[in-house]
Amino acid sequence: MTDLSLQGLSKRFGDVAAVDDVSLEIPDGSFVCLLGPSGCGKTTLLRLLAGLETPSAGRLLVAGEDVTETPAHARRFGMVFQSLALFPHLTVAENVAYPLSIRGRPKAECRARAEELLALVQLEGMGGRRIHQLSGGQRQRVAIARGLAIAPRLFLLDEPLSALDANLREHMQVELRQLQQRLGVTTVVVTHDQKEALTMADIVIVMDQGRVQQVGPPMEVYRDPANAFVAGFIGTSNLLPCELGEGEIAVSGHRIALDPADRVKARPGAAMLSVRPEDVRIAEDGLPGRVSFVRDLGESVQVMIDHGDREITALYAPGARPEVAVGQEVGLSFAPGGRVVLPA
Ligand code: ATP
Repeated sequence: MTDLSLQGLSKRFGDVAAVDDVSLEIPDGSFVCLLGPSGCGKTTLLRLLAGLETPSAGRLLVAGEDVTETPAHARRFGMVFQSLALFPHLTVAENVAYPLSIRGRPKAECRARAEELLALVQLEGMGGRRIHQLSGGQRQRVAIARGLAIAPRLFLLDEPLSALDANLREHMQVELRQLQQRLGVTTVVVTHDQKEALTMADIVIVMDQGRVQQVGPPMEVYRDPANAFVAGFIGTSNLLPCELGEGEIAVSGHRIALDPADRVKARPGAAMLSVRPEDVRIAEDGLPGRVSFVRDLGESVQVMIDHGDREITALYAPGARPEVAVGQEVGLSFAPGGRVVLPA
């Protein structure tokens, strides 16, 4: 069992609170994505987990054991760095077995384990090659195999796929996820790519300015954002200032009755309405707007509508494309249950 418990973990660099009082419980076997904008503290939090940074405050427990003071090499965690940090002077097999050879494991064991891991990441027969003889995706797999060499109880990866082109990256996202499911190893991946996080994770941790903004399964974070930052950061969101009243909101003076399935997280008064593009509909007598742009994305049709100084995005299935033209005055409505009223 490798459930993780982060208890008030903080890391300060001078005046900067890179990680600010993070408390979390992560169940054994989870695939966790740490997500947030540049500089929000993702890498620092991962390095705190790895033992590569010493926390300014707080504790880290793994399966109930306090490892806060345990040095990185003694934690039995696997790590994959953004740079991959593969050794050009070693063969692929020697790279993979490196964490075992520096721990003094016998040569035969290192060889056997390298072969096993190379098969696991679909690089059979490539153990004798040098790193420069591999493609980008193959190098990625070598780094992943090396990270798994010691059968880690926690697998930590810092933007492992960021150097790959879009197609290979999507392929590797699925591969990494399948590998993790097969091994059942608790895994934490840093990414700034929200689509990647939504594709891979059981649990998404959204961070901003060193603080955790929301933790939850991808769909929950998408459908039920905790605040305007999360709504804006995860997926496309239409954010509109509104006034929250009794069972209704007013957007630019236009009253909209709330549905029991809508989520209200603000107090009465000035608030922020968040609506996903798939929940925006063109309707008579709706919120007034003017169509500014229509584009066919293949799997969907996107319609942009200007409402005052805000641009609202609506998304339709190709078969449900509305009959609208650029410049047309339209009304907008929002699907019941798709409205999230957040603190302003
Ligand atoms: P990115 O996505 O750009 O890699 P990040 O979310 O991983 O960013 P961190 O690298 O964890 O962010 O940095 C968080 C904050 O801490 C930033 O303000 C950064 O400048 C600062 N920081 C990180 N490492 C150090 C350090 N060794 N010394 C001083 N400040 C640091």
